[in-house]
Amino acid sequence: MSVTQSLDDIDLDLLEEEIRLYNESVDLTLVRDSYLFSEMKHREQKRMSGEPYFSHCKATARNLISWRMDVDTISAGLLHDVLEDTSTTVKELREKFGDEITHIVEGVSKISSLPFRGIESQAENFRKMILAMSKDVRIVLIKLADRLHNMRTLEFLPKESQIRIAQETLEIYAPLAHRLGMSRVSAELEDLSLRYLNEDAYYEIKNRVDREFEESGEYVKRLSKIIKDTLLESGIESQVEGRIKNIYSTYQKIYAQRTSFEDVYDLFAFRVLVDSVKDCYASMGVIHSRWKPVPGRIKDYIAIPKTNGYQSLHTTMIGPGGKPVEIQIRTREMHAVAEYGIAAHWKYKEGGAASSEDARFLWLRRIVEDMQELKNPRHFMESVKVELFPDEVYVFTPKGEVKGLPKGATPIDFAYSVHTEVGNQCVGAKVNGVIVPLKYELQSGDIVEIITRSGSRPSRDWLKIAKSSRARSKIRHWIREEERAQSIQMGEELLEAEMQERHLSSTKRLLKSDELLEAAKELNLSSIEDLLAHVGYGKVSAQHVVNLLAPETAEKSDKQAQREVPKRRHTATGVNVGGIGQPFVRFAKCCNPIPGDEIVGFITRGRGVTIHVVSCPEISGEVERILEAEWDIQEESLYSVEISIESNDRKGLLADVAAAIAKESVNIASGSISTSGTKAATIFTVQVTDLGHLRRVIDGIGRVKGITRVERKS
Ligand code: MN
Repeated sequence: MSVTQSLDDIDLDLLEEEIRLYNESVDLTLVRDSYLFSEMKHREQKRMSGEPYFSHCKATARNLISWRMDVDTISAGLLHDVLEDTSTTVKELREKFGDEITHIVEGVSKISSLPFRGIESQAENFRKMILAMSKDVRIVLIKLADRLHNMRTLEFLPKESQIRIAQETLEIYAPLAHRLGMSRVSAELEDLSLRYLNEDAYYEIKNRVDREFEESGEYVKRLSKIIKDTLLESGIESQVEGRIKNIYSTYQKIYAQRTSFEDVYDLFAFRVLVDSVKDCYASMGVIHSRWKPVPGRIKDYIAIPKTNGYQSLHTTMIGPGGKPVEIQIRTREMHAVAEYGIAAHWKYKEGGAASSEDARFLWLRRIVEDMQELKNPRHFMESVKVELFPDEVYVFTPKGEVKGLPKGATPIDFAYSVHTEVGNQCVGAKVNGVIVPLKYELQSGDIVEIITRSGSRPSRDWLKIAKSSRARSKIRHWIREEERAQSIQMGEELLEAEMQERHLSSTKRLLKSDELLEAAKELNLSSIEDLLAHVGYGKVSAQHVVNLLAPETAEKSDKQAQREVPKRRHTATGVNVGGIGQPFVRFAKCCNPIPGDEIVGFITRGRGVTIHVVSCPEISGEVERILEAEWDIQEESLYSVEISIESNDRKGLLADVAAAIAKESVNIASGSISTSGTKAATIFTVQVTDLGHLRRVIDGIGRVKGITRVERKS
């Protein structure tokens, strides 16, 4: 490959010359020093290709120069591997090159990747990249320059490494480059990855595109000239070029969307570069008056730029010969941003790493926020993907302010993008003046108005309809706070009950006491609230806490391992569990206990206690979170239970079963029957007062002629 070979010849003079091309008056002492230092440090090392290792450092720096980076970044690029691969120390680097460059080089070294395995390490790699980036974007730009050269020289590595590195590039580096607006870099990284991940597809597409280009080359040249001349007739100076879209995007069209190669008509796109924004719109008008535009393909990214900063007008016209032709129209300045993204217009202030304060890095700040919230790697990756592949819709506030939201976003997402409180108190929405359900999918151009009611609260179900990471993390945050409040209250109740059991004075006084704080500290918790929440979550048992508070009562309490449930006021739900209050108690749906069943309480994470049958498999192995419970029926009430019946299908059977049930004065709430051949399966929902009652019903049914099996289903 000519690119890698020519790099050998690049010497310091050449690098300096290239920098001078875009920064005439800059002081290059730092670049010179870094060059010599790095060359000396890497002198003994060789790359897999047999080249001196330093050639890689030069190539990395050269990529940075092609993105017109500042001298600090270029110097750090030359030095990027000295900490990791040579004996150089941080101290040495700081003394020679100062804090800023050392900081960047250190940042680059820290994100050297984990071996790529599964979502856990993918998430971890992303975390590192994003943390580094939030400190200084230049760290990631160097990493991209480094990866680009490594991908260009990947052929020298063993097959296994090729696949691992290509996969990581495709999943992490290419999307990051895209998100930073560096479309040329991300396209090259994608194409190079594909070459190693699916060699056959890569070469098949490449050969066909090359052939197509050869065949259509004349056509492309001719059409470019026609467009240019047409614009000139209207007084617009322009530069027009035809180009081939990248191989990977064609591959995705063919493989992911299952189109055939013949149907991928937009292998080519034309690009029109003009001097001013006014000329962009004028050019589009001229082109539309000469060729027919394809409806629905006109996009104005000048008025509403993409979140990565991209600006351009897009249209597809029916060109000569009836072929659809995609055209992008933009100024030269916009073009530089489209190709090199953040690198093209990122000006560093004196000593300024001022990365995440920039409005263009809102998304970065959002990911960093999410990172603290989302400990689960799957949740985190979901949110990263939403932020990195922004397939967006643009909607308006009633005042005409634009909001960019991920595709599929709902009024909930919009509400949270306005303000957290607007989100939390959202009760409804109007789109274009009409009331819509909260799950309505917003369309670009919608004018959205949120209806709020003070005191209203988010719902857990909103997580199913919210798409943006911001809304999702705000909702999760709210739920967690709410659960914590409940847990604290329940922790209080559980402690109170345990104290009463041991005839100790009330917790009410204790709640503010130093003793309780001491107990908390002993359990490595920083506050009384934390302690209560832990008890309420079932992470620490109330017995354990009271043992710490009143050790003299501990032994006695341990001896009565099989002690009775603490007595308490009679309760409306008919269950007495661990002596705690009733607002927290619910019956589990999985095992549906009825009076007479042996039951236990199960401490949920922040949602009170659920009552299960002792043998319920849902709660096995969670001893810490089990509370003793017993029935405490004051007033008979009815419990629904499902009974499943298998029988031979005979005439009048159903009537006989119904009669047997009625004999026990039981209501049938519902029933369903399915037959196959001579067999019938019936499910009845009956309402009984307790287990004895249920047994009598089951026995009664069992005695009906033709019944082969009766059992309680839940
Ligand atoms: Mn490197």
